[in-house]
Amino acid sequence: MRDLDDLRPADAVRALVVTGDPDARVLQTAFAFFVATDFAIRSVGSGDVELTGWPGAGLVLTLVTTVLAVLVPWERLRPGLVAVLPVVDIAALGAVRLDPEGSAAGILVVIPALWLGRQLGRRGAVVAVVAVVLLTALPSMIVLGEDPLAVSRALLITVVAGWSALAIAYGLERIRCERDAAEQRGRELAEALGRIEEHQRAAQAIFDAVDVGLVLLDRDGAYRDFNRRHAEFLQRAYPDGHQGLAGQTGLVYDADGATPLTPVETPTARATAGEEFEDCRIWVGQDPIDRRALSVSARSLRGTEGTFEGAALAYKDVTELMRAMAIKDDFVAMVSHELRTPLTSIAGYVEMLQDRPDLPDGVAGQLQVVDRNAHRLLRLISDLLDSAQHAAGPVPLVRRPCDLAAVVRDAAEAAAPAARSAGLALELDLPDELPCVVDAFRVAQVVDNLVSNAVKYTPGGGTVRVHLDADPTHVRIAVTDTGVGIAPADRDRLFTRFFRSRDAEDRSIQGVGLGLSIARSIVEAHGGRIEVESQVGVGSTFRVRLPLAT
Ligand code: ADP
Repeated sequence: MRDLDDLRPADAVRALVVTGDPDARVLQTAFAFFVATDFAIRSVGSGDVELTGWPGAGLVLTLVTTVLAVLVPWERLRPGLVAVLPVVDIAALGAVRLDPEGSAAGILVVIPALWLGRQLGRRGAVVAVVAVVLLTALPSMIVLGEDPLAVSRALLITVVAGWSALAIAYGLERIRCERDAAEQRGRELAEALGRIEEHQRAAQAIFDAVDVGLVLLDRDGAYRDFNRRHAEFLQRAYPDGHQGLAGQTGLVYDADGATPLTPVETPTARATAGEEFEDCRIWVGQDPIDRRALSVSARSLRGTEGTFEGAALAYKDVTELMRAMAIKDDFVAMVSHELRTPLTSIAGYVEMLQDRPDLPDGVAGQLQVVDRNAHRLLRLISDLLDSAQHAAGPVPLVRRPCDLAAVVRDAAEAAAPAARSAGLALELDLPDELPCVVDAFRVAQVVDNLVSNAVKYTPGGGTVRVHLDADPTHVRIAVTDTGVGIAPADRDRLFTRFFRSRDAEDRSIQGVGLGLSIARSIVEAHGGRIEVESQVGVGSTFRVRLPLAT
């Protein structure tokens, strides 16, 4: 139990405003203290204090109530019963005020009034007003007379009591509402946090379960997070440990599996520089049995303002695919090589036969068909060989000074018969001469591929246009058609080997999907770039830029 000697007026105030039931002992003791103080001051001041009669009865009532407040376990009785105490206090005050010499103790009505408001809410204000009127105001007017001062005092004391009780009742109601709202918000927040944690656990489980290495980098290239699969790749690539920063070199090699990547070439460094890419092939590890080929994709993470916040990278294990492709390339190269020799001989003999003047009727036409198909087969074989060779390493170039305008013109005009029979207009927009140093045979192959594609993928009545010009540093070749166009989803994969669009397959347009990958290898071997712009149903433009080395 609390030591009553320790009570201070501030405790009484706290007992009123804290939530929960007010402490009856504290409030009653504070009330008794002020009543006793009133008596003490008056007896010291005038020496003539009425301790008998009504005022004395009031004092005794106050003291008895205080003893009851301290001894009775109010908290165990019926809730609200404790409100009897402030009502009795109001009665005691009524008696104290009946002192004919006058007493200012009436102001103390504030304490029981606040107590009632605190205990019973707005009902407490009604109880306080009724109690003050019946037990304080009326008795004083009856006993001390109805002079205007007494009436005014009775009125004021009632107003003060009602006002105080109402003020605290409303104040506490508001505190309760705010507390309830805060508790509700707290509950909602806790629920939301619970849900977020659940999602985080689920996301982490998925993050770790997928068979793809995943890495999150911050804007400075520091590793924010990576999953278990990626930890295995890191182990192979950096057996001596990883610092958790983009651009660290280790046992990380280019797609050829032999050239080590420099710091700026690592996928993490490129992603930290804001680059986004797909299918960047690398090898990690040295052991030929154990090393892995990875296909890496990167996406930038951007804030609401578009600012670079970091990057996410996905590392897919494509070792088996790469090994299968290497075996397939070797096989294709071998078979193509074996086919080329007899086929070249067939094409040669057919040409010799075509030159004979004594051919029977109709045979010349049949030989033409044999010749055309033999050349088609030769071209296919040469594409397969080129593609296998380009996959194994950079295209070997023989750069010589040449007139590029003539090279492009010859390559484009070779497609003229095909364009004519497809009902297409072939327009050439070339300068008379454009001297530069390139591998003419290879550049002709690029133009040949682009123009024959334009012819293949443009319906009759359309136009294919070949343009060539130069700026101070580059030559530019553009092949534009009014054909079927290329869907945006296909554009990224257009230059990969054996890619054919669904549309090309559906329309049964001949091809194996090697022309553009060969073209890109040749252009990149020259240090140039090849790009495409296209709109489905409107047409496409393939642009090649080669550095001008005159
Ligand atoms: P191929 O023509 O033998 O299929 P390519 O590598 O030359 O192989 O082209 C790859 C794919 O790109 C084609 O299958 C086709 O879907 C698309 N393509 C190429 N050029 C064009 C073009 N000018 N217009 C529309 N689609 C094209």
